[in-house]
Amino acid sequence: MSPARHCAVSIDLDGISCYYRIHGLGDPPAELEHLILERALPRAAALFASRNIHVTWFVIGRDADGDAALPDRTTRAANAQRLRTLADLGDELGNHSYSHPYELARMPSDAITAEIANCDRVLRDITGHAPKGFRAPGYDVAPAMLDTLARLGYRYDSSIFPAPGYYAAKAAVMTALAAVGRPSGAVMTNPRALAAPADPYRPSMTSPWRKGQAPVVELPIAVTPWTRLPAIGTTLLVAPEWVRGRVLSAMARRNFFNFELHGIDFADATKDGIPGELVERQPDLRIPIDDKLARLDQMLDEIAASYSFATLGDVAADVQRDE
Ligand SMILES: [Zn+2]
Repeated sequence: MSPARHCAVSIDLDGISCYYRIHGLGDPPAELEHLILERALPRAAALFASRNIHVTWFVIGRDADGDAALPDRTTRAANAQRLRTLADLGDELGNHSYSHPYELARMPSDAITAEIANCDRVLRDITGHAPKGFRAPGYDVAPAMLDTLARLGYRYDSSIFPAPGYYAAKAAVMTALAAVGRPSGAVMTNPRALAAPADPYRPSMTSPWRKGQAPVVELPIAVTPWTRLPAIGTTLLVAPEWVRGRVLSAMARRNFFNFELHGIDFADATKDGIPGELVERQPDLRIPIDDKLARLDQMLDEIAASYSFATLGDVAADVQRDE
């Protein structure tokens, strides 16, 4: 690839239970466990296939684990097959940990290694080759993660989200939930991430928020130049049209656009039978899927005017080569 301006679209396949945890709602109804992979993922896949865009899917390993000891074995096998088809068509499968613990960055290093290595095993089983990239749950990075990624031969981490506004909003929500006695399952991101570089860089192995000499590169999630507003798809989908326009035109000044979406962006509360208790707390679920797809299509048109699309794995290879 030439040193062109690239946009990489990634989709974190967080299940419904992740959102129940964030909002302190306990466990979701069992029949909703695989909703994102079964119903939302095919919609996203159809949209990107129709535009000929190869994306990176960040997979929670357990959801596609073929291990016979787990419940819903057939469902997990079907999930694995869905992901294999996408990989066969040229998409990338990335590691999003085995069970998505929001406190992963604070866990002991052997637990961190196990979470990453277990998802790695599942992805190798699916595609027959080693994954190239990792995204931490809740954007929270720890040096032990980089150690494990380096040992497994990964090319990149894409977890740093240097957006002070997002940090403040998350802190406010967590404080509010704690105040009403319903603590959130989310964990505060390490504030050092806020001052991290916003363009791809080689992180320090001991302090991933700073530049250093790690063998893996860091591909930070998109924030606008100067003001560092979040430029993630999930946020932009619910933002007023003028905000979307302003953020996207500010992003046109960056050489790399790490455009992050989540599986839930492709869910529809009514069609997919998502309970009111979650819809009430997730504004994106109050927008019908057709509207969300139309907004996304419009954003992709705008992005396509300034960028060519590539997977995060391709961008990481570019960064390593250009040094
Ligand atoms: Zn996630």
